Amino acid sequence: MGKIRLLSDALASQVAAGEVVERPASVVKELVENSLDAGASTIEIAVQRGGIALIRVVDDGSGMNRDDALMCVERHATSKIRTKDDLAAIGTLGFRGEALPSIASVSKFRLATREPGALTGTEVLINGGKMAAVKDCGEPPGTQIEVRSLFFNIPARRKFLRTENTEFSHLEQTVRVQALAHPEVRFALVRNDRLVFQLPATKDGRDRIRGLAGADLAGRLLEVPKQTHHGVTVSGFIGPPGMGRSDRKQMLTFLNGRPVEAAMLTYALREGYHTALMKGQYPVTFLFLETDPGAVDVNVHPAKREVRFHDGNSVRDAVITAVSDTLTRQMRRPVSGVGLTGAEKPMPVPVPARAEQHELIPESEQRSLRKDWSDLASVPRPSLPGIEVGSSSSSVSEERGLSPRPDPVESPETTEKAPVEEIEERAEPDIETAPKAEDFRLLGVLGKLYVLLEGKEGLVLMDQHAAHERVLFEEMRRRMETEGVPTQALLVPLTVELAPRDFDLVSQNLETLAKLGVSAEPFGGNTLKIDALPTFLKSDDPERFIHQVIDELRGASRQTSKMRLGEDMVATTVCRHAVKANDPLHSAELDKLLRDLLVCEMPYCCPHGRPTLIQISYAELERKFGRRT
Ligand code: ADP
Ligand code: MG
Repeated sequence: MGKIRLLSDALASQVAAGEVVERPASVVKELVENSLDAGASTIEIAVQRGGIALIRVVDDGSGMNRDDALMCVERHATSKIRTKDDLAAIGTLGFRGEALPSIASVSKFRLATREPGALTGTEVLINGGKMAAVKDCGEPPGTQIEVRSLFFNIPARRKFLRTENTEFSHLEQTVRVQALAHPEVRFALVRNDRLVFQLPATKDGRDRIRGLAGADLAGRLLEVPKQTHHGVTVSGFIGPPGMGRSDRKQMLTFLNGRPVEAAMLTYALREGYHTALMKGQYPVTFLFLETDPGAVDVNVHPAKREVRFHDGNSVRDAVITAVSDTLTRQMRRPVSGVGLTGAEKPMPVPVPARAEQHELIPESEQRSLRKDWSDLASVPRPSLPGIEVGSSSSSVSEERGLSPRPDPVESPETTEKAPVEEIEERAEPDIETAPKAEDFRLLGVLGKLYVLLEGKEGLVLMDQHAAHERVLFEEMRRRMETEGVPTQALLVPLTVELAPRDFDLVSQNLETLAKLGVSAEPFGGNTLKIDALPTFLKSDDPERFIHQVIDELRGASRQTSKMRLGEDMVATTVCRHAVKANDPLHSAELDKLLRDLLVCEMPYCCPHGRPTLIQISYAELERKFGRRT
């Protein structure tokens, strides 16, 4: 007799469980997905001891009849696909028919389910994969699944579970992400009999984000208007320029209702943000993609975490376009509701009694500045947003420390006018609401770097270096796009030997390079002859520069403007040319700087994503001085 045996079903399920069920959070993920697939409008999740002792998921979805209730715990039993063609275009969250048998094989499992309109429901009990009982039950329509003592029969796996708190935090994150993906479903999460959150069903994605991530964050997000490129529909909410995180916990992307991760999406988001995000940081996004289910393969990973796009380029381009358009479009109009809490409308600007100001600039000069600025009043201009400070951190105290967060209860004098009340959230740019030039008064310069401005809503600080970088950057980019970059012919042409692949790439893009100020031509073999370089390039290693450009060329998306290529090098260059922290500027220069900055496409952060302007509102000051609580 041979040595090879078929595994028993129970053992095979336990083996499969190793892939699908890693920890309590994965159980919750599978169960919630099933409830969503069953069309539930309410899903309640209750757990004990971080989900290790108990996970209960109750839904009001389609339920199952007795046959299905028995069938659903069999291996490879699914109602979601039947044929090979179905597998090629999966419209449901589940399809593998593995989750329930796997979970039931490594826990004490109870299923109670009832179809709406059925006289009775069915209860199925399974212990470590062994059917223990099947009976009628009188539960309400829908499905309840209880998973107790996870991994009780697999000590090796149980050992790998972390503390209750850690397991719970994974589990909670899973529920949050699912809830974000399905705002139309009511969710509740209960831990050790205490409600953790309860989210009413809503049609508005921002409501759901507010319920989960807080009013502060939700209020600051920019809405990505629903748009379709190459068959990929993109919508959702993203953080404004300058809002970054050091990890990707708040960089969420969903595809056809499923939370997904893909290196390509990370790349596309970063590319979409480009200079609006600090290097090395991750944006805050709640981005929803929809494609034809046939255009994507979700059957890559047993836990369905990864997806593969048939046409990744289209998806990438759609994301880049949606994000970058949203950032530029929104930053050109008044950012209302920035930093506001809750569903509140923007609050009127408090008018506190002014203390005597320490004026560093003679009154006469200030007046002339103000006059200059008033010339600009007719130009539509963005208002000052509450740019995130210390954007590398998501620490609440820091965010609260410097962003304007008017209190719902304002001091009496602030109620006198509420001009912003009438503005609709998604109103078109309203020039009237944009700050006028005379809204700012130059107060002086702090520490030879921070320009102090009095704004309508409080103190505004401008980082002169960052601001100048932004101004130079956009000017340089504009020039590049219109007239090309000024070049300097090399006395002795430079020859660079390239790898064949790189050589081909460059040969196809000579025109682009020319626009970047690099004049190059093939010089036999895989050698390139360079006879002119951009004037502003002050590199002692032009060869390295060429290689950098080639790297960028390689990474550039076919959709994004090829000019993007040079942006990084422009950003580095302008950094060198921009005024430095210690450069003293005359008030007229400061005035010009602010003026130039405010007409920039993306005025609120430098090309490296650091803020150029931050605001400390009167409300904030009042709180700091204990004038209000
Ligand atoms: P899959 O979701 O991949 O089909 P599962 O093992 O998760 O596999 O579930 C098996 C089947 O059980 C599903 O196809 C579905 O028909 C049924 N089912 C599971 N959970 C529910 C539920 N909450 N409500 C209704 N039917 C369910
Ligand atoms: Mg499933």
